[in-house]
Amino acid sequence: MIVADQKDITEIIAMTEGYRNILVIGCDTCVTVCLAGGAKEVAILASGLRLAAKASGRQVEVHETSIERQCEKEFVDALHSAVKGQDLLISTGCGIGVQTIAEQFPQIPVVPALNTKMLGLPERQGVWVERCQACGQCILDKTGGICPISRCSKSLLNGPCGGSQNGKCEINKDIDCGWHLIYERLKALGRLACLEEIMPAKNWSTSRDGGPRKVIREDMCL
Ligand code: SF4
Ligand code: SF4
Repeated sequence: MIVADQKDITEIIAMTEGYRNILVIGCDTCVTVCLAGGAKEVAILASGLRLAAKASGRQVEVHETSIERQCEKEFVDALHSAVKGQDLLISTGCGIGVQTIAEQFPQIPVVPALNTKMLGLPERQGVWVERCQACGQCILDKTGGICPISRCSKSLLNGPCGGSQNGKCEINKDIDCGWHLIYERLKALGRLACLEEIMPAKNWSTSRDGGPRKVIREDMCL
């Protein structure tokens, strides 16, 4: 899922300067799971903004709402009546949510309350870890189901590098070496021979290097 965390409240307050009618919009999917932008966080943020406005003597109305998914126009459409009369929309969705709202309501400024971080896994309560960088050409079949793009600090396709020590990455001894994990997994699977195959340079044009990407399913297009 997409993992994000909330910006510092002072940064969000600064974004509201000069606006009187503000709507904080939550997203009930990924950012709710990572405790960053669901209905509960929207309520806390809206209260914080009201208190900050009161403390600075500003006349501000802060409203709040939440939709199922900010990343889909069909759900964002449901905001029409809520955004009416608002000067500023604060999205607690991921970057896709902010941009979807901005596209649907071009006449009203939209600002992000979150920093969108990664495609991650909830490892345990309160901890999310990066597991995929959406490179566009998945190679997990060659690496025992462990992603070297996101789990090796250098995104090496052939590893480990010379810095791996005792299973830990040279950039931080608290980080598992991604390639050590891959070795252990392939060993357990009896597939260590996979490591003898030199992976050629990756075609990064399927990743961000190729510019904005698009997925088209002709069979689904109307
Ligand atoms: S190889 Fe690419 S698509 Fe597959 S998990 Fe890693 S980053 Fe994601
Ligand atoms: S120590 Fe392991 S994870 Fe760190 S950069 Fe080298 S191969 Fe990658």
